[in-house]
Amino acid sequence: MFEARKVKLDFPILKRQVNGHNLVYLDSGATSQKPQQVLDAERLYYEQHNANVHRGAHTLGDEATHLYDVSREKVAIFIGAQKNEVIFVRNTTEAINLVAYAWGMDNLKKGDVIVTTLMEHHANLVPWQEVARRTGTKLEIVGITNDGLLDMHDFEKKMKLQPKLVSFVHVSNALGTINPVKEMTKLAHKVGAIVLVDGAQAVPHMKVDVSEIGCDFYAFSGHKMLGPMSIGVLWGKKKILEKMSPFLTGGGMISEVYPTHASWAEVPEKFEAGTPNVAGAVGLMSAMDYLEKMEMENVRKHDKQIVEYALEQLCKVPYLVILGTHDVEVRSGSVSFEYNGVHAHDVATILDSEGVAVRSGHHCTMPLHSAMGISASVRASFNVYTTKEDIDALIAALAKVKNVFGK
Ligand code: PMP
Repeated sequence: MFEARKVKLDFPILKRQVNGHNLVYLDSGATSQKPQQVLDAERLYYEQHNANVHRGAHTLGDEATHLYDVSREKVAIFIGAQKNEVIFVRNTTEAINLVAYAWGMDNLKKGDVIVTTLMEHHANLVPWQEVARRTGTKLEIVGITNDGLLDMHDFEKKMKLQPKLVSFVHVSNALGTINPVKEMTKLAHKVGAIVLVDGAQAVPHMKVDVSEIGCDFYAFSGHKMLGPMSIGVLWGKKKILEKMSPFLTGGGMISEVYPTHASWAEVPEKFEAGTPNVAGAVGLMSAMDYLEKMEMENVRKHDKQIVEYALEQLCKVPYLVILGTHDVEVRSGSVSFEYNGVHAHDVATILDSEGVAVRSGHHCTMPLHSAMGISASVRASFNVYTTKEDIDALIAALAKVKNVFGK
């Protein structure tokens, strides 16, 4: 098992001072910080290997192509997939849009049903709203229980509508809930639906094996798992990807082009039009190396310990209402709360003045916040470098809110 206090030393930014205090970074759900080795990997790529990905033209081109290939292979192993089923995209949002447009527009028609849930990030809701509008499909939303779990009774009810596509989040970015994705996939497949899982908040914290989950698509972002920004992954089952039309067209994704028509390259290149983010893929490879050395089982163990400690400590603060379940077996990555009588933005501003970085707002889950009857919450979110001392600093900074607002 690793020690978060030691892990922290690998992250240069965490040595910073903010507003006269040591930075306490509790916004990893928005984006994680990056260890030195990821920064070095990206720099080394630009210093030594930078070229566009085309094999055979020259040595640097070969090297860049090789690194891009190796990173794809590494992603495949990391998530239990086949290499040619891994598509590099910019982020989770792009991955979901790719499926929504490339699969959705060709396979959904008026009268069909798409099912998603109330706890989705806007990235896994708005694309489906748009596809539903364009195709005349009906969008059905699964509700949640009072303690912030997915309402599985409602999920089963929605499966009776025989949806063509079911798309849900693995770990909620606002509630921290870990959904029973394997069971949900099974239920959706039973009625013949295609299943997409939004894994943006799961891959950074736990071992994810797409073949064990059994879903058809899985999406995640490199920047939340210690990797660089603007590199993400869409994994999809090959037989489905092969039948799909491309999302973006142009260079790099074609087989042959004639003046009036073209044919496509094989999967995954078919879905990677234009110059890719090779440096990002190289950085992501280094981030996966870093996580693998810690072992994902230990990463999850640490995640559970920090979430448990944060829940325990935050529960003792008067005026706080904690969102979501207190069962750490089904909770990961973050704790969101409402400070009774003080707006979340004011809480975050006071915390920032103490060097504590949190997120405030609806965290791109407006429908969820509305359903809970609140407009905004404060979210403290964690990663492998988060220590119990960071949580103590959050609690100490919250005392200042009490001083300022008299609460
Ligand atoms: N889904 C979830 C659950 C998320 O937490 C996020 C990021 N907050 C996204 C999707 C979108 O990720 P990105 O901005 O990297 O596309």
